[in-house]
Amino acid sequence: MLSNLCKHIIDSCPLFEQHCQLCGQRATRHGLCPPCRQQLPWRQGHRCPICQAPAASAQAPCGDCQGKHPAFAHLYSAYDYDYPLEGLIRRCKYAPDPALQGVLASLMPQALQHAHSDLPDLVIPVPLAAARRHERGFNLPDALARALADTMRVRFDDQLCWRKRNTAQQANLNRRERLKNVRDAFGVKRRCDGLHIAIVDDVASTGATLHSLAKTLRKSGATQVDAWVLARAIARQA
Ligand SMILES: [Zn+2]
Ligand SMILES: [Zn+2]
Repeated sequence: MLSNLCKHIIDSCPLFEQHCQLCGQRATRHGLCPPCRQQLPWRQGHRCPICQAPAASAQAPCGDCQGKHPAFAHLYSAYDYDYPLEGLIRRCKYAPDPALQGVLASLMPQALQHAHSDLPDLVIPVPLAAARRHERGFNLPDALARALADTMRVRFDDQLCWRKRNTAQQANLNRRERLKNVRDAFGVKRRCDGLHIAIVDDVASTGATLHSLAKTLRKSGATQVDAWVLARAIARQA
């Protein structure tokens, strides 16, 4: 009730207007003006029903998932990792920008609210290794996961898992190398018996990181792990 009232006051007050994060021109209360919002890269074409890689049909899993089902049940992405969203995520990923972080966080619940059939018990961000987190001062998936948990009224927990080590940059690795790179990269602090958990990340490429975290959670007793990401990269399939 109170939050609805606050939202109404914010929405109707010119003091809260800001310039659009993309064009920098039009004033908007939600960070992106309507024409720029329409340019966001919605998923297009058929996708694998498990990992959302481009596929010949939306009914049959892709070759990778047929070969070995990932540890997560389904990956849901709000958008493709493409222009102009790609630039916004990059801007937000390496330097704290609370306003932009808030805009990206607000995009996820809207796009994902129809993507899942049943709500998870717990929403958690994919953690950064402590040293890297300290260096950056923030972790974008934390903000995304918190926004999703708030909107869906599901428990948020950013303390359940930790990342044991800084994994090598994944960008130049193929799928097999990525899987090896993130194997056993995560730890879980307590048992998760019977829980349905959603793990949240900003960008998924091959899904190797999400697979690794999901595997660790399943080993700790989670019955189902879903992966929710803001954007899925589709260019680098190896
Ligand atoms: Zn704009
Ligand atoms: Zn797949």
